[in-house]
Amino acid sequence: MQKQLKKSLEKEKMKLTKDLKSFANKDTEVKGNWLTRFPFFGISRSHDDENAERIEEYENLLSVEHTLELRLKDINNALEKIKNNNYGICEKCKKEIEIKRLKIVPEAKQCLICSKENS
Ligand SMILES: [Zn+2]
Repeated sequence: MQKQLKKSLEKEKMKLTKDLKSFANKDTEVKGNWLTRFPFFGISRSHDDENAERIEEYENLLSVEHTLELRLKDINNALEKIKNNNYGICEKCKKEIEIKRLKIVPEAKQCLICSKENS
């Protein structure tokens, strides 16, 4: 079972990395951090409407980048746990995370009960 979960984690990691690479660069200084590329060139003073639109688009990208980055961190974290043989243990109550939950969210850090308490 864990083998299968590891596979899906690795697959997800590859997908996330690919998505991030399409509009962001890996931060060379901070590990696990990504920097969104500003995708537009030649902002001109005479096209204020267009500029505002571009800035809005960039801000959207930033929030997407943040979400993907956090997810990737969780996945790396889970892969690390598999390596250290403590995968599938709730970080809060230290009980085993339900396998049903892991199948849906293989990078889960907490069991269902704890994660419900948090939200
Ligand atoms: Zn728990």
